[in-house]
Amino acid sequence: MTASIDHSMSNLVSVEPGAIREATPEGSVIQYSDYELDTSSEFAGGVAWIEGEYVPASEARISIFDTGFGHSDLTYTVPHVWHGNIFRLGDHLDRLLDGARRLYLDPGYTKEELADVVKKCVSLSQLRESFVNITITRGFGQRRGEKDLSKLTHQVYIYAIPYLWAFPPDEQIFGTSVIVPRHVRRASRSTIDPTIKNYQWGDLTAASFEAKERGARSAILLDADNCVAEGPGFNVVLVKDGELFSPSRNALPGITRKTVFELADVMGVPATLRDVTSRELYEADELMAVTTAGGVTPIIELDGEPQSGGKPGPLTTEIRDRFWALMDEPSDLIEAIQY
Ligand SMILES: *Cc1c(COP(=O)(O)O)cnc(C)c1O
Repeated sequence: MTASIDHSMSNLVSVEPGAIREATPEGSVIQYSDYELDTSSEFAGGVAWIEGEYVPASEARISIFDTGFGHSDLTYTVPHVWHGNIFRLGDHLDRLLDGARRLYLDPGYTKEELADVVKKCVSLSQLRESFVNITITRGFGQRRGEKDLSKLTHQVYIYAIPYLWAFPPDEQIFGTSVIVPRHVRRASRSTIDPTIKNYQWGDLTAASFEAKERGARSAILLDADNCVAEGPGFNVVLVKDGELFSPSRNALPGITRKTVFELADVMGVPATLRDVTSRELYEADELMAVTTAGGVTPIIELDGEPQSGGKPGPLTTEIRDRFWALMDEPSDLIEAIQY
């Protein structure tokens, strides 16, 4: 089973320019909409909003003097669109604006204004399945390379592009593999606040390289206390004796994890945020990687050994299938994009 995992693909599996779909297992819960892009529009297939202007994604450029680039001085979020519905946009914007406030970043736009630009980007792109990024940076000043924080104009960048997967759809269905890195730990929360989504990816990128070297798709990082933190762009949820657990510290409060916990509640399955030790990770009955860029992906191999008996576990599978069903069920969680 695990031998069928193809590790030759990069950590983030992008679609080719012009192509807007990834292969998905036949009959599985992950199925793209059937539609054509009208390519007479220059925005077809990808749009960005930069300094107040809509541009085709291929022409998106930002200033090299933006401190978001130079100092990673920013916060961001990534909501997604599936079957023409945007998922939990309000929750994404709340987390984003809360992070911005704590970083003393002023986006200069209200939540409603940001939501309108996001939806306009998706609409212009025509994408029914889209990965949407909203980034707020400290920006740049009038003087090139200005470092005086009070003289910088904060910037908001938004884009909608074809879906990017942290785990390709076939691994979301049949399972993926991870390692626990030997050479890197997750930055401590007293160094970089992990509850503010950020581009400080040094530790996560080192972990991704180690995963590749060790023949696995991805990695679960521990923190300095040997507790589970998170992976490159995903939260970790484990199942033990019919209950869910996920780290309360050194991890982003993921919107996907929040959704997984709500689904568990509906299913009558207890779900708790608390410290999760490395021993508990290895002794889990089931493990899942949860993220906007990969839904609920079963982990069936840990450090080269079978996990969950080498196949997706029953609770993980049920939660994954219920997660994807939410993308079509009318509810407060989704909003239809007007194309
Ligand atoms: C984005 C991200 C996640 C997943 O968060 P979602 O809101 O579910 O997409 C988890 N960890 C890190 C480090 C992330 O950047």
